[in-house]
Order: sequence, then structure tokens, then C-alpha cells
Amino acid sequence: MDAGQQRVAVVGGGIAGLTAALRLAEHGFKVDLFEAAPALGGRTKSFYDEDLQTWVDNGPHLMVGAYAATQKLLADVEASHHVTWQPNLCLPLWDKQRGFFALKAVAWLPVSLALLWAVAKMPNHGWASVKAMLKIALTMHNRNEKQTVAEWFAQIDAPDILIQDMLNVLCLGVMNEPLHTANAKTFARVLATSFSSQKNAKMGWFNKPLSQALIEPVAKKLRALGVCLALRHTVRNLSELDHDVVVLALPAFARNRLLGIEAEVETQIITNIHLWFAQHIALPSMMVGMLGTYSQWLFQVSAMMKEDGLQHLCVTVSADVSEQTQDECVRLVLAEIESMAGQKLAHPEKTRLIREKRATVLVREQQQLNLPQHVFDAGESPGPGQLPATIELAVISAEKTSALVINATKINA
Ligand SMILES: Cc1cc2nc3c(=O)[nH]c(=O)nc-3n(C[C@H](O)[C@H](O)[C@H](O)COP(=O)(O)OP(=O)(O)OC[C@H]3O[C@@H](n4cnc5c(N)ncnc54)[C@H](O)[C@@H]3O)c2cc1C
Repeated sequence: MDAGQQRVAVVGGGIAGLTAALRLAEHGFKVDLFEAAPALGGRTKSFYDEDLQTWVDNGPHLMVGAYAATQKLLADVEASHHVTWQPNLCLPLWDKQRGFFALKAVAWLPVSLALLWAVAKMPNHGWASVKAMLKIALTMHNRNEKQTVAEWFAQIDAPDILIQDMLNVLCLGVMNEPLHTANAKTFARVLATSFSSQKNAKMGWFNKPLSQALIEPVAKKLRALGVCLALRHTVRNLSELDHDVVVLALPAFARNRLLGIEAEVETQIITNIHLWFAQHIALPSMMVGMLGTYSQWLFQVSAMMKEDGLQHLCVTVSADVSEQTQDECVRLVLAEIESMAGQKLAHPEKTRLIREKRATVLVREQQQLNLPQHVFDAGESPGPGQLPATIELAVISAEKTSALVINATKINA
């Protein structure tokens, strides 16, 4: 049977499901995609706020130059211009004592040297931080699967200031997990790929809401390829689907629920506090990593998206253990922004707290799945040494699974 006669059901309309549907439809399969929610996008989604007449992302999503698969996907759906890239790596930071400073890599050196120089130039750093960075580089390729990032850094005696200013910020940002539980092998892989070249090291952000920047361009191509996009359609049992092939593009907890597997899946929360101000707040960069505060990252959303009108800021807190109410969070982050901006702030015109309880599936040893022969898993379930749960992992998993489906069809033909 050739691909054109095969019917594939993709379950899940997040970026993984959309990517799998795209690759399979491009190959000639007849694809039906089922999404439980009223809109596509999953965790990379936006919603329209009627009061403010503006789009809101459930959380700002950062990319890094090392996200090769996501960049290829964006290029394939003619949406590369929806990401704004830094010319070269700059990680703007702030703390109460030192004010604003940045880890800024010069473009004319190889990134490894540029990074060492950049670290040495940060206030209160120096030879101790440079030495620790060198030790990290020398030991990153032989991490064992069970070691935590904190254990790794204790082994190499990394100074507290380097951990506080850089390593903790990166670990929380990329792995959504604190150093004492995050997997060292995965973090080492992130560092190795992100800092392997100047191109990989820089950061990028979407310059439109996620649904317009990423989701709609893929969905448009899917419609053009004749893919049926079934929204508000929760698949509760595989027996509902009479397709030749089923691709599960679900985070591990949703996949297990569908398959009736009882195993627990560890996930981590991300809190986003959106604030809209009438008053202008002067900030030195599109985003700032805030040190020693509840707020971890402050994003200037309206500047990133070149929007007029109210100034839209968003504070992101990864692995947020607090259970504060919206009012308490807003009070706290307002005081922290005031202290950072050195400016008295009027209460924002509008605020919105979005707490995504299962924002990411954590990197843990994965159980072997016994799936029926026609069922393929493309979902988020990262193991030690694999990429953490990110857009890039979602796209790569979907690409790999689509290749498996295509190969299996060739073998059965
Ligand atoms: C606030 C936040 C900030 C983040 N920031 C970043 C970032 O800066 N950079 C980055 O790379 N990553 C970031 N991530 C992670 C990234 O969003 C996810 O890793 C990625 O979107 C996962 O995509 P997915 O398609 O695998 O899963 P999902 O997006 O969860 O998609 C799964 C879909 O399946 C649907 N579904 C579930 N069960 C069923 C069913 N039975 N039948 C039908 N449909 C079903 C769900 O409704 C959902 O739409 C962030 C995540 C959050 C929440």
C-alpha cells in the first residue's frame, strides 16, 4: 500500500502534532488531526483578550540559535521572519546591588573564547568564574545519567556567583527545573549545543503572538495539503480511530491517560504575570533576567511585537513553588520592577496571571512503552541526555516519528 492510500490520525494539535501532520501530509498520507481544545497550538497558544482588544500568549517563548529543527519548520512554512534574533549573544541581567549588567559575547571571537571573556567582564566575576567555565566545558561530555546539575557544579567547585548569575538562570529557563533536581546530562547537552557556535548561542523571540507567528502558518499549509483539522475532539480511546496509523503527539501524562497507563509523570509549573501600563517604564533591553527576586525574567512584550498603545510587560517564573494569588503576585512583581526601573509605578491598567500547572514534562528515566504496531509516540517525554521539554524537542520528536511512519510504510509496501 502506498502512502497516499494510508490514513493517519494525529492526536494532539500542539506544535508536535502540527509538525507530524505536516511531514506526513507532505509525504502523501491522508491525515486527520484531532485536538481537544477549541484552538490549535497547545502550550504554544495565544488568546484574544476582549477587554484589551489584544492578543496574549500564555507565556513568552524564547528560541535559541541551536533550535535547528524549529528554524527549518519556520522556513518551510514561510514564517522565519516571525522571529527576531539577537545579532550575537547578550544575556541582560539585573540585581539590586549591581544594577543592570550583561553577559555579552563579542562577535569577532569564537564563541567559547567570547563567552569566557564575557564572564570575566561581569561585575564581581573574574578568574574564579572563568576557571569554573573551563571546567564545565572539559567535563560536559562525560556526565552520568543520574547526576543532578547541582552535584556536577559541586564536583567542579563552581563559585556561587557564577551559579547565581548564569547557571541557575539558564537551568531554570531551559529545563524549568532548579539545579538540585535537574538532570546534568541533559543540561550538559544544552550547554554543548547552545555554545558550539556564535549562530547557536544567540537568542530569538517571536515578533507576533504565537498563534500568528508559529501555529497559523503551519495550519495554513496543512489546510492546503488537505489535512482535516478536527477541533474540540478529545480522543478518549484508541478504538475510536479506524486509521491505518495513529501518531500520539501528547505530553507523557496525556498519552498515559489515553492509553490507560498508571505511571506517574513528573511535570513542572510556569507562572506568567502579564501587566499593561499606561505609564512608560524605561528598561534597557527587550528582556532582563532578574536575580535574587521572585520575578525571574521580565519581557517587554509590546516592544518585542512592535505594538503601539499600552506597554505590555510579562514576568515569567519557572518552577514556581509559591502559591500566591494573582493580587499577591502582582504586588510583589510591581515592587520588584519599581526597584529595577528606579521609578515609582502607578498600578497597571490591567493584569493577568497565567499559571500553567503542567508547563513541561521533566527529564526523567523513561519507561519502555508497548504500543500496538500501528501506534507511534511523538510526544514530550524527555530522558536523561535528551533535549529538555521545549519547542525544539517537540519538533524533533515529531520529525523522527514521521520518518519512522514513512519507513514502516515502505517496509510494508
Ligand atoms: C508558559 C510556558 C512557557 C514556555 N516557554 C518556552 C520557551 O521559552 N522555549 C521553548 O522552547 N519552550 C517553551 N515552553 C515549552 C513548549 O511550549 C512545549 O514544550 C511545547 O509547546 C510542547 O508541544 P507539544 O505539541 O508536545 O505539546 P502541547 O503543546 O501540550 O500539545 C498537546 C495537545 O494535545 C491536546 N490533547 C491532549 N489530550 C488530547 C486528547 N486525548 N485528544 C485530543 N487532543 C488532546 C492538548 O489540548 C494540546 O493542544 C514553554 C511552555 C509553557 C507552558
